[in-house]
Amino acid sequence: MKNIFIADAMLGKLAKWMRIIGCDVEYFPEISDNEISERAYHSGRIILTRDTMLIRRKINRENSFFVKYDHYQDQLKQVVKAFSIDPKENLFTLCLLCNKKLIYIDKISVADSVPEYVYCTLDNFKTCPSCKRFYWNATHKNNMVEQLKKILELN
Ligand SMILES: [Zn+2]
Repeated sequence: MKNIFIADAMLGKLAKWMRIIGCDVEYFPEISDNEISERAYHSGRIILTRDTMLIRRKINRENSFFVKYDHYQDQLKQVVKAFSIDPKENLFTLCLLCNKKLIYIDKISVADSVPEYVYCTLDNFKTCPSCKRFYWNATHKNNMVEQLKKILELN
């Protein structure tokens, strides 16, 4: 079974990068330790945390993971390695804001919503079922891939 996660409030950047590679990571910037603890316990999510106090809680002992680095690049590398995540397998399959799985939509339905150049040159569009934002291949995606390659030392 695929691991699912919840990141503590200090790990926003890590959560974003994990979503980029398609890992299901809940993240709330204003969440209390108690809430993280409860949500993780009831949903089977693994807590990613920089906080050893959170890990010491009895109900979280089995399902928390200590992130030992300060920088998101090192954090991402640590998590990907520890959980044997294939960073290419589910790349760009999640909404980066909502953590929901993106779905393909008909090109025609984005006609009024995306820049004309984008509409004319691309055929594959996805949307988030929650925030309805559209996703397509663009330069920023290539930049993310380049950054990922650097961070994870991929070829
Ligand atoms: Zn969304």
